[in-house]
Amino acid sequence: MKIIDEDLITTDPIAFLSNEDVEVSVLRLDKIHPVVSGNKWFKLRYYIQEALEQQKRTIVTYGGAYSNHIVATAAACRIHGLKSKGIIRGEAPKQYGHTLQEAASYGMEFCFLPRSDFKMKKLPENFITAEDYLINEGGYGDKGAAGAGSIAYDKDKFDIVCCAAGTGTMMAGLINSKRTHTKILGFSVLKNNFSIENEIRSLLLNPLEDINIYHDFHFGGYAKRSPELIDFMNMFYSVTRIPTDFVYTGKLFFGLYQLLKSRQFKAGSRILVIHSGGLQGNLSLPKGTLIY
Ligand SMILES: *Cc1c(COP(=O)(O)O)cnc(C)c1O
Repeated sequence: MKIIDEDLITTDPIAFLSNEDVEVSVLRLDKIHPVVSGNKWFKLRYYIQEALEQQKRTIVTYGGAYSNHIVATAAACRIHGLKSKGIIRGEAPKQYGHTLQEAASYGMEFCFLPRSDFKMKKLPENFITAEDYLINEGGYGDKGAAGAGSIAYDKDKFDIVCCAAGTGTMMAGLINSKRTHTKILGFSVLKNNFSIENEIRSLLLNPLEDINIYHDFHFGGYAKRSPELIDFMNMFYSVTRIPTDFVYTGKLFFGLYQLLKSRQFKAGSRILVIHSGGLQGNLSLPKGTLIY
């Protein structure tokens, strides 16, 4: 099943992040599509495949009102002729933001759940039927990890692969599909989300693998930001022409930049950074915040 055109994905060394000791390259999953980009395509592919095999007509999933997973699910369903329903955390907004507008344009129906009910996974009656195919919030699960494991890169070349971590599903998939010599480094975008290690471990094919996560680059928590982060993203864009998003990849590149500045990597390291997309999230920022 071909969801995306993998030919659009590039991997180029980035002079700005490289020096005589280390070479840093970026896997541009953000190029797949301006809105529905990045790791979400990969994480969804085997869920969609299973839903189609089970002849389901509708996919239901969960997320926040700015969730990349929600919009990607809506788009993937539209492409495959499936209906989609989104259970959205929080009260219905007076006006939909970009994410919900975009998801609605792909035909997604919404059900808004107060935060406490959402947390308890209290499913709204009548909104879901036994016929629907359910995907966890954020695509967390074995199939999501397997899909992320199909993210292709030159496994002979890179010793270190860096990625942003939300639920950790992508990171689990990268660990499951890596070569023995490769180290996967995750940059958590949530504050003090130390349970992520266990959540990742339960998706691993080999539960004894090391899990290396940085918890210092969340900028206050999920979707939180500071002028320092925004300044970095603008500087990074003006030097590299690579746009990043403020929820995931901006924090990832910021964190990596700090590690590079303090020379945390062995000489000769070849590092790959997964640009996991998410640029649609920037549409929720006030105009003029970013220079791109
Ligand atoms: C969802 C998302 C992630 C996090 O993926 P997880 O598998 O939940 O860790 C990272 N980057 C972007 C751009 C995303 O949209």
